[in-house]
Amino acid sequence: MLSVHACPLAKLGGRDSGGMNVYVRELSRELASRGVEVDVFTRWREPGDPRIQELAPGARVIHVESGPIRYVPKAEVYARIEHFADEVERHIETEGRGYDLIHSHYWLSAVVTRQLAARWDLPTVQMFHTLGLVKREVMTEDTDGESDERTEIERRAVRESDALVAASEIEASELMELYGADPAKIRVVPCGVDVDAFRPVRQVDARETLGRDQCERLVLFVGRIEQIKGIDVLLEAMGDLFRRRPDLRHEVCLVVVGGALDPNDDAPELEKLEDLRRLVHEHRLEDNVDFIGSVDQRRLALWYDAADVCAVPSLTESFGLVALEAMASGTPVVATRVGGLQTVVVDGESGLLVPASDHQALAVAMERVLTDHRLRVHLAHGARDRAERFTWSRVGDGIEMLYDRILAARTHVEV
Ligand code: UDP
Repeated sequence: MLSVHACPLAKLGGRDSGGMNVYVRELSRELASRGVEVDVFTRWREPGDPRIQELAPGARVIHVESGPIRYVPKAEVYARIEHFADEVERHIETEGRGYDLIHSHYWLSAVVTRQLAARWDLPTVQMFHTLGLVKREVMTEDTDGESDERTEIERRAVRESDALVAASEIEASELMELYGADPAKIRVVPCGVDVDAFRPVRQVDARETLGRDQCERLVLFVGRIEQIKGIDVLLEAMGDLFRRRPDLRHEVCLVVVGGALDPNDDAPELEKLEDLRRLVHEHRLEDNVDFIGSVDQRRLALWYDAADVCAVPSLTESFGLVALEAMASGTPVVATRVGGLQTVVVDGESGLLVPASDHQALAVAMERVLTDHRLRVHLAHGARDRAERFTWSRVGDGIEMLYDRILAARTHVEV
């Protein structure tokens, strides 16, 4: 498994760490439990991490030293990508372990995959998690220097990989329409959720544990603090909500989980926080909005339980684990009708869907869920029911079948 910039052991919700880290972690564990041994090669980012760490019996994380052992922006990771690939090669040669297949995550890993696959003649599976061309369509901020080079690398990986994993039918269409992918190469495998770790717990108990019993109605946002997550749209929507329903101003709070907001963090995002605080001020939301920074996943489960609604206002989303985790916790989701969210959330059954970037529609949907008790209960049940279908074991089934198919095709050719 190659996951150059997303370490499966990383602290989540900060800079450049979120769903992909979770996916690589859970998939590796799942595969290992089925006897498919996995080594995840990832950039060494945390000074305290050992070079090699066991993720589960049969699954290891191998930290590759490439550049300084701390956060560096993706452009810098890319600048050293050949060095990273050489280091992985060196490690593999020294250890003398043979691999059957490379599963590559994100465009950065595709570069490394190409080098290693050529060197050892290995079949490759590529998953992008986000596609440069899709992101470019919705973003005005160019946070990662989303370059033409990225698009080229993605196109080449689409052409050369033995298989492509898409998290939703929508991502599969994007791969075909924007990148000209061969439909026969694409396998749609939706992501999963641990339905035991994320499960409904009595709201009062969760709030008490979190010390949040003073808030009557709680809206939750969870995610990296990036434009793509639509957090500014959500703040605008809160402003709209209170203009529509001034009585709710004294009842509704928004808790924003995510972001490296502690000045002692590896790469604090204090400037971004300042921008958001300006928006809070503009809409007079000081008493309603709390930015609490990133939270460990085990504690995050309590936040989903404490919330009345989880807002997922992303501008684009290849899948949207946060929506699924909220649903597994029995918390209705108000999400945008984009990417994988459209397949995860069933409008009117497990949450409500609204157009992206439409703060007014978002405000109306939040108002409905927050004020209509029957609707909330209906959506809460629907949410849990739907989430139970998305397990990591299912993801493991899909991926293992894909590996088998690719390896069988190879054997066939060799014979
Ligand atoms: N997450 C977390 N703590 C945080 C913020 C996020 O553990 O403070 C996790 C969250 O549980 C989810 C992932 O990060 O599993 C975010 O995944 P998602 O697919 O929603 O977004 P992505 O990061 O892939 O854009």
